[in-house]
Amino acid sequence: MALTDGREAGDQDWLDVLGKVARAGVYGVASTGIYCDFGCPSRTPLRKNLRIFAAAEQAEAAGYRRCRRCARRGVPAWTEVSP
Ligand SMILES: [Zn+2]
Repeated sequence: MALTDGREAGDQDWLDVLGKVARAGVYGVASTGIYCDFGCPSRTPLRKNLRIFAAAEQAEAAGYRRCRRCARRGVPAWTEVSP
């Protein structure tokens, strides 16, 4: 597993990151090795560095560490994609 796992951000993923839309899944930032919930108030990363994962566990398996701002919100990471 590597930081380049997951998939590239599509247009909708990018819009959701830009708009800080809280939705299922997490996004990793390959340049920092950090992953965030969608809706995280952290600074918007560059689109080319984004990797999209369906669940936090997958991002962690790829070697990402959880963003501290997400963790501090006290909201558990999304664990599955809504149907
Ligand atoms: Zn975050």
